[in-house]
Amino acid sequence: DIEGRAACGVLTIDLGALVANYRQLSQRNAPERTAAVVKADAYGLGVAEVAPALYAAGCRDFFVAHFIEAVRLKPHLPADARILVLNGLMPGSEADCADLGVVPVLNSLEQVANWSATAKSRGAILPAALQADTGMSRLGLEPQELETLLAEPHRLDGVHIDIVMSHLACGDEPAHGANARQLERMRAVRARLPDAKLSFANSAGIFLGDDFRGDVARPGIALYGGAPLAGSDNPMRQVVRLEVGVVQTRTVQAGAEVGYGASFVAKSEMRLATIAAGYADGLPRHLSNAGAAYLGNVRLPIVGRVSMDSIILDVTALPAGTLKLGDMVELIGPHQTLEMIASDAGTISYEILTSLGRRYRRRYL
Ligand code: PLP
Repeated sequence: DIEGRAACGVLTIDLGALVANYRQLSQRNAPERTAAVVKADAYGLGVAEVAPALYAAGCRDFFVAHFIEAVRLKPHLPADARILVLNGLMPGSEADCADLGVVPVLNSLEQVANWSATAKSRGAILPAALQADTGMSRLGLEPQELETLLAEPHRLDGVHIDIVMSHLACGDEPAHGANARQLERMRAVRARLPDAKLSFANSAGIFLGDDFRGDVARPGIALYGGAPLAGSDNPMRQVVRLEVGVVQTRTVQAGAEVGYGASFVAKSEMRLATIAAGYADGLPRHLSNAGAAYLGNVRLPIVGRVSMDSIILDVTALPAGTLKLGDMVELIGPHQTLEMIASDAGTISYEILTSLGRRYRRRYL
């Protein structure tokens, strides 16, 4: 179709690899109790495609961040799939949330009160997840709030706490002392709410050992092929491949200035190729004079600044005439992993994925 032919590059998303990653993560946990974190449009990969593929693989619990994401995801999933909203229950959204059957994560006593009031006004029992802050200081009830709730159980009238959860701040660094501290607090919370299922592990948590797994793991990045733990081999299958087309090639002489701000100056004759993607397509400007593209095994360094819609590559390492107008180079794929490009850009795989632009042809395998 014309959209596909007109696109500036090809973003291939391997749903088979995604499902293989889900199965691998499920094996390390109770099989039917592995949720999927599909917030931010499934980390940029397209929730309308990703969530149904995971559902077909047996996933039933889907975590989003904002209620708007739950509203948009709902039509893509069968009725027995549960959608949970990590960022909590916002005032004014309670009725919509209950009508849609979306499960809020309750992060404060105020949210507990609002959900309980909604349930009571409907004469219904409404499910919820309750989040405890075990040390990240981002979301969830603080220890005193939890004590208040447990001392005054009427606050939960009409609410069924199905899941009690918390989030690891440093899970990707297995040796970090915060992990053991959070685990200890999580255990104390769990002991007070023994009937609820425990959800603690993100991708990293699944690999930290049995203690961290809980009943319902919540992997995100590992599903999408990102490395769950910093600095160790990535056991996940790559899901994303990004290839971008060449829009012009040239040979420049020593002294030639390259790109905005003339931040790169050729030291000798060199061949350049300009490719059709830039920071507006999710390739961070921090890759300027830092990152690279690949043609097969050959690294093609980025020279000069990343522009909005284009990037200039040093292709001198390739025999003259190798790259022609319309040829594709790899930005993410077998030769340059997500972690490699993220590291060159001074960021993390999550930000690379969630920034991937909308001008590529998206191909789902
Ligand atoms: N749980 C919560 C509360 C999160 O915020 C996230 C994502 O940041 C996840 C789970 C998934 O984490 P990861 O992508 O590291 O597996």
